[in-house]
Amino acid sequence: MPTEYFEARERALLGERYEALYAAPSEKPARGVTVNRLRMTREEFCARVEFAVEPSPFCSMGLLVPDPTVKLGRHPYHHAGAFYSQEPSASAPAELLDVRPGHKVLDLCAAPGGKSSQLAAALGGEGLLVSNEYDSGRAVILRQNLERMGVPNALVLNETPERIAKALPGYFDRVLVDAPCSGEGMFRKEPQAMAQHNQGLVEHCAELGREILDAAAVCLTEGGLLVYSTCTFAPEEDEMQVGAFLERHPEFELLDCGVEYGCAGEKNRCGEFQYAVEKTRRIWPCNGGEGHFMARLRKNSRGEGEKDARLKPQKPAKTCKEWYAFAKQSFPTLAEMPVTLLDDMVLLAPPELPALKLHILRAGVLAGSVQKGRFVPAHHLFTAFGAQCTNREELTLNDERLAGWLRGEEIDAHAAQNGWCCVTVDGLPLGGGKVSGGRVKNHLPKALRNLG
Ligand code: SAM
Repeated sequence: MPTEYFEARERALLGERYEALYAAPSEKPARGVTVNRLRMTREEFCARVEFAVEPSPFCSMGLLVPDPTVKLGRHPYHHAGAFYSQEPSASAPAELLDVRPGHKVLDLCAAPGGKSSQLAAALGGEGLLVSNEYDSGRAVILRQNLERMGVPNALVLNETPERIAKALPGYFDRVLVDAPCSGEGMFRKEPQAMAQHNQGLVEHCAELGREILDAAAVCLTEGGLLVYSTCTFAPEEDEMQVGAFLERHPEFELLDCGVEYGCAGEKNRCGEFQYAVEKTRRIWPCNGGEGHFMARLRKNSRGEGEKDARLKPQKPAKTCKEWYAFAKQSFPTLAEMPVTLLDDMVLLAPPELPALKLHILRAGVLAGSVQKGRFVPAHHLFTAFGAQCTNREELTLNDERLAGWLRGEEIDAHAAQNGWCCVTVDGLPLGGGKVSGGRVKNHLPKALRNLG
């Protein structure tokens, strides 16, 4: 049951349309996956998985999963980063940003990482994704998800949007603000979102969204695109938020979302703000997802007093003989790449990355560390570059060793030689193992295993 405040507000705004717009085609929350283009195409995915999928209207890599009993999080392809399990309408905003390989992209509110994964896939490994999460615990989950998806060129931050705006003004071609919101589109999926909901929360989220949007405006370069989205229906966080932003930021122009799904934003939700609100987009529960609001904006000129970032380049890359010896044998395509050394850690950082005084959780790929004079590879090296590993133990979905491997067990080696190897499923990297005496010792991090 929606709260009294919600129902009274929406009935007043929608009149007789209330029942129809909030009526969903099924009683169960909509479920879906977004296929990771860094791993395979949507067509390949459909042909390979054994569960039923249907095309999603909300994004080119999205699929609906009608069977609620499919355990998506335990599927081997999930471990291999072939898909992100995502509420279907939540996959819509990232694609509106029109990200191209080579862009510099900022996702300001990124955890747990569904939209960041889509942005990274659109970059195809070229350019830079700065993926930020304000909450430290959620930032760790974001880092793990981007690692699982094999993203090689992300900078994962745990920062405030204001500090990022100070450090990187005018730096990005694309910025996504998927704002912390009152979550009215989550009522069916997460009943606690309904229990916590009230007018005060809506007002608080609207204020937060406003601050984040102002920081986003500073981060964007001239001609760059900003997408603002929420998974709520509250006018203060949606149409009114965009109207107020356009008033504060005349350097921005509202663009049409250019999509067929959902419905146009609504005039009677704009409060005092008069603008072409029909260019914004709403996905109501009756449109097939749980609910989203989106606006697409272009920055046509600099804001008042704005200057571009004056960035210092990273310190010259170092060499690490232990990494070099390991890479030459196991990852020869990576051996000549410049590395960044941080204490005993070896990182393959994106070349675009400037030196930054921000709270960084991950810069590029953690290749591994030097321990007692030897290089020990990290899980991330295998998820990002496992296909390039010269020593591989290749499993298939039907291989009886697969379930054991995902539980963290040792398996028989059929092809891999002694030493470090990458274990794959249908060619997709699952992680690293160490072969000795015909067995592959499992190095899948404990937290990622299929237990219970
Ligand atoms: N984009 C994410 C995805 O697709 O997986 C979902 C983001 S969720 C809607 C909003 C995020 O904003 C939450 O992870 C929340 O912790 C974060 N957040 C909370 N307060 C914030 C603040 N003051 N500034 C920036 N982000 C904040």
